[in-house]
Amino acid sequence: MLEPRDHVAIAVSGGKDSITLLSILSKLSSRFPLTKLTAVTVDEGISGYREEAVELASKYARSFGIQHQTISFEELYGQSLDDFLRAKQGERLTACAYCGVWRRKAINLLAKKVGATKIATAHNLDDIVQTFLLNLFEGDTERFVRFSPVLKDPRGLFMPRIKPLCQIPEREVALYGFTNDLEFQSASCPYMTEALRNELRSIVNRLETAHPGIAYSAYRSMIKLRNLAEPGLPHQTLQLCQACGEPSTFSLCEACRMVGISISPTGNLP
Ligand code: SF4
Repeated sequence: MLEPRDHVAIAVSGGKDSITLLSILSKLSSRFPLTKLTAVTVDEGISGYREEAVELASKYARSFGIQHQTISFEELYGQSLDDFLRAKQGERLTACAYCGVWRRKAINLLAKKVGATKIATAHNLDDIVQTFLLNLFEGDTERFVRFSPVLKDPRGLFMPRIKPLCQIPEREVALYGFTNDLEFQSASCPYMTEALRNELRSIVNRLETAHPGIAYSAYRSMIKLRNLAEPGLPHQTLQLCQACGEPSTFSLCEACRMVGISISPTGNLP
């Protein structure tokens, strides 16, 4: 996952997983002086939730001597997630559907801005298995088989992404944090209950309690399926989004489409 001259942009939300990842990578990097780390945080604009997390991210980055950069949805998309959802009431997808797409793009942009060579995210084993089931139940077959702990774009348009905690169960990440006296965000996202992921989390937790190791078996199946399916995956051609210039499979990237930007039949932005 890591090479000696990497500049790793660590996506730090302020939650237990990302603060733990920041702590572990900061310890590791002290053994590899050529590696550079920068913490990057996205402020989605979720009132009563994100403020505490951004403060924690900044506090730990400072204490580990790591540079920290933030970017907000308001700066990037013109409004906070709260304001966007309020305006869209009654005719919208779940909050997480917008938040996930916009945050991914925000992290890419910020990582590019700081000159990073890789992005590290703190997804743990439980997150990965939930995503696997989510894609399965939503029929998103391609996303289902494209998962990899190290995602490298052969066309070089997307920055490589790594998931160093992807085989570590959530409970063990939490245990590491507690035994290292790390302070975590206490509030939960107010939109969390809207997501199917939340129900899948309970199901996977119940299964794991009754059948220890089942989450890891699901992870292994996922990797095997990916290896089997990979040769048959259709080749994705990328172009640059006509609104923001970021790589995209369509003329407008998903994030711009969700913001409500459209293109006229002539192909020009209205
Ligand atoms: Fe965003 Fe959903 Fe996570 Fe809240 S729970 S921060 S809305 S992805």
